[in-house]
Amino acid sequence: MPLIMIWQNMEEYNKSLYGLVGYPLGHSLSPLMHNAAFDALGVDAVYKLFPLQEGELEPFFKDLKDEESPIFGLNVTVPYKEKVVRFLDNVDPLVDKIKAVNTIFINDKRKLVGYNTDAPGFLAHLSELGFATDEKSVAIIGAGGAARAIISVLCLIVERPKSIKIYDIDKGKAEFLVKDISENINIDIVETVNSIDDLNIESSELLINATPIGMKEKDPCLVEEGLLHSGMLVYDLIYNPAETELLRLAREKGAQVSNGLGMLYYQGVLAFQRWAEQEIDQKIKNIMRKALEKGLGL
Ligand code: NAP
Repeated sequence: MPLIMIWQNMEEYNKSLYGLVGYPLGHSLSPLMHNAAFDALGVDAVYKLFPLQEGELEPFFKDLKDEESPIFGLNVTVPYKEKVVRFLDNVDPLVDKIKAVNTIFINDKRKLVGYNTDAPGFLAHLSELGFATDEKSVAIIGAGGAARAIISVLCLIVERPKSIKIYDIDKGKAEFLVKDISENINIDIVETVNSIDDLNIESSELLINATPIGMKEKDPCLVEEGLLHSGMLVYDLIYNPAETELLRLAREKGAQVSNGLGMLYYQGVLAFQRWAEQEIDQKIKNIMRKALEKGLGL
């Protein structure tokens, strides 16, 4: 993309740019969160969406090396979290393990450094919820990019669960994911299953929906209602709507429930801190969280 195309209006000319790369991008909440932080800090920067088709990825990343480029940081989302790794100069050790990047910092020598803030973002939110993962039975539905980060980090931490069962509508996808993660991480606690019934949800202490099912109003709950129980945390990665059918039913069964807004917030804070190269104030973090909540009409 020629540099001049990156600025869509003259007001943004001369500002540092940050943004989200993915396709399609739809209504992302990330600009609200990051622009609120830039405004609060008085930083002359703006966070934009970069909806890039696959063929545009390579020229875009080539342009990032240009010393005139106004872009200093990026987030990456579906379907490029794994694909962008090859464009980077350096990656954080966690990326070496997970093999997926959702945050890129571009330093003053135009070196591109990749991080994964989804994984620690998820853990930070679990911790805020007061949920301890050690020796727990975990069931995950969906074997995409989000599940990759979550399974990897749950296997890497000291507080490892007792077991992690994963189901995807495409069994081959779940098997590939687990095999791929196993190249770098000890995943002896992970097992792929053939059907939702084999997830043993009735005896799980953490159920994670890592599919997009629940985003549309008419979407069904993937789990049989009778299997949900009060001894579990049901974590739906979806945050819009704030309460999916799965979360509603789980709440009615007395389960602890959470949507994915907290994970989005924590991964955003961790990304922002990479770009700022420092810890940010709790006051700024609160502004970021409020911006997200406002964006969802909460
Ligand atoms: P993804 O890469 O598309 O993975 C979703 C997986 O779920 C795919 O393998 C998909 O299979 C599978 N799936 C779809 N329908 C299913 C069903 N009925 N039963 C079982 N598996 C099914 O997406 P992702 O990036 O992992 O994201 C998953 C969800 O998490 C999305 O809703 C996303 O918005 C959300 N997310 C939230 C955060 C956050 O910060 N809160 C971060 C990342 C992602 P097919 O490909 O065959 O359809």
